[in-house]
Amino acid sequence: MNNQGFFYRDTWAEVDLDCITENLNVFKEHLPQGVDIFAVVKANAYGHGDLHVAKTALNAGATYLAVAFMDEAIALRNKGISAPILVLGASRPEDAKVAVQFNLTLTIFQKEWLEEARKHLSTGEKLSLHIKVDTGMGRLGVRTCEELSEVEQLIIEDDRFYFEGIFTHYATADELNNQYFKEQYTRFEEMIHHLKTRPKYIHTSNSAAAIRFPKAYFNAVRIGISMYGLTPSIEMKNEIPFPLREAFSMQVKLVNVKRHKSGDKVSYGATYGSVEDEWIGTLPIGYADGWLRKLQGQEVLVDGQRVPIVGRICMDQCMIRLPYYVPIGTQVTLIGRQGDEFISINEIAAKLDTINYEVPCVITKRVPRVYKQGGKVTDIKNDLLS
Ligand SMILES: *Cc1c(COP(=O)(O)O)cnc(C)c1O
Repeated sequence: MNNQGFFYRDTWAEVDLDCITENLNVFKEHLPQGVDIFAVVKANAYGHGDLHVAKTALNAGATYLAVAFMDEAIALRNKGISAPILVLGASRPEDAKVAVQFNLTLTIFQKEWLEEARKHLSTGEKLSLHIKVDTGMGRLGVRTCEELSEVEQLIIEDDRFYFEGIFTHYATADELNNQYFKEQYTRFEEMIHHLKTRPKYIHTSNSAAAIRFPKAYFNAVRIGISMYGLTPSIEMKNEIPFPLREAFSMQVKLVNVKRHKSGDKVSYGATYGSVEDEWIGTLPIGYADGWLRKLQGQEVLVDGQRVPIVGRICMDQCMIRLPYYVPIGTQVTLIGRQGDEFISINEIAAKLDTINYEVPCVITKRVPRVYKQGGKVTDIKNDLLS
């Protein structure tokens, strides 16, 4: 029996695909005609689910998908996605043939890579490539005009390579001080000035740069975090000229509710003791789901009210202090809205001393993803049973 569209524990992440569509729509209005959107769906679409987000983004007008490595791209191909996919990270030259077979576009930045890849490609095969330029991120990319010329030359002299794009990545586009961004932008302009040919795609901007710097559009932008409805940084919060809606929420249902007497303890270490008679509820989620131990003390929503997580978070469960008796089976929102109360991913990120990107990414495959469109559940993906 295939029950991957079902789950047996009341713990799930809800992904509202309409938010993804709306976020891309407002982005499209913000961009001039002729600027393509590459929808960044690496890391299982930042934890939201690669297939559903990819399909939604393509329907909303994204022309290209981008992932971090070949396995992620092949996973999308295996699920039936035929749109162009750019692999943003490094791939092995020995795998050039596999990239051709799956019609993947690879990122390259070393002439030795091309020399090796040539040995693995037959005549008639064609590998689409984007050259990565390191203008100051210090991660991947050619750093000098000489390196760039050598790499370009090797691509254009070999029929098995197609020079489709060139790009760079900004280190500080989400910071209000623009100085470093400007240096990187200028460096990129100088570098592409040295090209003999103009590839189809020239792109530099992630969400933050695409929101803030029109001059850096060239002819495509790579949109990740904002497609999911999140601000690229807290600093930038008031700089976003259009509304974004968070697509991701987290829900559980109470599995146990009990009366604690003053002094009764909760969880490992017995660190929490009720100060008076209290109602304590148990939630079926823990750090193995990505609901990390550092979230002890974080509030959740029950009956439209904020209540705290008490005691240590266990591997599979945690406890909350209820305001009054609430029946087993009541829905508890860990991320998202209940009535007038909203717990944003930014709030969880602040509690974890991290950035919002990390929060949905670390929600593990144990947590089924429930997809909604038009306010209705349209699909459920439970990786454990697939
Ligand atoms: C992840 C990534 C992006 C997307 O960045 P966001 O800030 O999520 O929009 C763009 N470009 C590259 C190279 C990336 O690795």
